[in-house]
Amino acid sequence: MAYTLLIRNCGQLLTLAGASADRPLAGAAQQHWRVIPNGYVACVQEQIVALGPMPELDEAEVTPATVVLDAGGRVVMPGLVECHTHLVFGGNRAGEFQRKLQGETYLDILASGGGILSTVRATRAASEAELLATALHHLEGFRRYGVTTLEAKSGYGLNTETELRLVQVAQQAGRRQPVRVVPTFLGAHVPGPEFKGRPLDYLQMLVEEVLPRLSPAQVPFVDIFCEEGAFSVDDSRWYLEQARALGFGLKIHAEQLHDLGGCEMAAQLGATSIDHADYLTPAAAARIARQSQGRTVAVLLPLVPLFLRQERYAPGRAFIDENLPVAISTDFNPGSCPSKNLWLALQMACLKMGLTPAEAVAAVTLNAAWAIGQQQHCGSLEPGKRADILVLDVPTLEEIPYWLGENPVRQVVIGGQLM
Ligand SMILES: [Zn+2]
Repeated sequence: MAYTLLIRNCGQLLTLAGASADRPLAGAAQQHWRVIPNGYVACVQEQIVALGPMPELDEAEVTPATVVLDAGGRVVMPGLVECHTHLVFGGNRAGEFQRKLQGETYLDILASGGGILSTVRATRAASEAELLATALHHLEGFRRYGVTTLEAKSGYGLNTETELRLVQVAQQAGRRQPVRVVPTFLGAHVPGPEFKGRPLDYLQMLVEEVLPRLSPAQVPFVDIFCEEGAFSVDDSRWYLEQARALGFGLKIHAEQLHDLGGCEMAAQLGATSIDHADYLTPAAAARIARQSQGRTVAVLLPLVPLFLRQERYAPGRAFIDENLPVAISTDFNPGSCPSKNLWLALQMACLKMGLTPAEAVAAVTLNAAWAIGQQQHCGSLEPGKRADILVLDVPTLEEIPYWLGENPVRQVVIGGQLM
């Protein structure tokens, strides 16, 4: 079938195709996936149909109608999968950033009614149109960094009406522009201000009033923030069990500021991802990897300890050595990481968590796709997958984390369309 798009002369084609198709890349496999030197990738409409070394290109399928991109010896790779964002919110927290620079901690600010709760006030006050316009603005920013699929959590409404609105805004934002949006329900971010001191009553309200109004087909994951000042391990377990019984996939924010055991608890319930994990020990990581048979992904968020001036980074190197699959995300949100630069997160994972460039690339593509249940559609360059493809401005994989802070993206293809 005649190609509609051909990318040729790819100096290194990073396929991410690895040993096993039925689980995320883990252990040595996180860096030993297939790189094709001097390669091509061919698409028909929105799908990849063929790829390989240039001498194997079937020129008969290249017609005058084929759009041909010459990568000129540069790196070509799958579109980035951003697997943990709080995309939809009102206002910003630049004022609190000043307080942090003067020495206040994240939990001090949360306890004084700031933090998440100040964004909740701004979000409740914003109209749906304002929230949508801001979300679309941020999505456009992500797209410029080469993000082609993005997870978007609710969690700044903390009441039925606003939480449902945030999910709807995320879904609408996904329909209005080309980046694929996967919504997650994080109503259990912290207890709503009307439920101060009664976290379990708040969770009960979510289970009775909100979860039944969401469909796992539309909103595949339910998430909770398990931390001091948010929800305990026991309360989180109860809530995730209810969500699982309703058919939702599970995620957790845990071991961000303390080692409470939330990651291990969630993994025992079959969580798709355990996120943050800055305080997760390598021993616990090894138990999680064994127990989940390598299916629970640790989503590491290195820009958060940087921005919070906390400087305690998840031991990503040890996690990989213990066979726990690792993904990387920005955690884009107004409080603890206002950055959309997933490349910077990748670079920080190399510098502060000890990942190799190849491991870090897997962490923002295929393993990130697994972390949001999108591995059938994206995260690697393989026939049958969606044609979400980046041409970078570097000639080798090793240069991706090297040009610190730069955006290496030259061209972005989403669903076979050049953006
Ligand atoms: Zn988060």
